[in-house]
Amino acid sequence: MVRKRAREKARSTRARSVSEAIPAWVSTSFSKSLSGRRGRDTRPEKALRRALHALGVRFRLHVRLAPNLTADLVLRRHRLAVFVDGCFWHGCPRHGKRNFTGPNSVLWERKIMRNRERDARATRFIHSAGWRVLRLWECVILADAPGCARRVMKLLGR
Ligand SMILES: [Zn+2]
Repeated sequence: MVRKRAREKARSTRARSVSEAIPAWVSTSFSKSLSGRRGRDTRPEKALRRALHALGVRFRLHVRLAPNLTADLVLRRHRLAVFVDGCFWHGCPRHGKRNFTGPNSVLWERKIMRNRERDARATRFIHSAGWRVLRLWECVILADAPGCARRVMKLLGR
């Protein structure tokens, strides 16, 4: 009896762990091409910094505003946080990948969705602290960094 129950328990545990299993990332050429693309000092970040410097705007880089929340660029005196959002990771409406294929498709979709949710939460959090937030897409900066710098200037009232 005891043994039977133990067997049943083992079976039900096994069944549960299989149904709840989170699919594991599979290394593909696509995922390999993306590793290392995320992070600081990206091309759009550098372009925006250069354009702001050219206009004489001073700012601080990579400022932690809360645990797990770092702004790419901060103008503390003006209470302004600027984020440079990569088209892929943040799901740009024009360049974000929409239909993932391959063994990781569900994981990719989930990951991008979570990033977008995190961005929205961060924006709300910063607003609630009485700061302003400017989010700039990578593609917009790469197309017109001086124009983006002017948008920052406008928020500074210059
Ligand atoms: Zn884009």
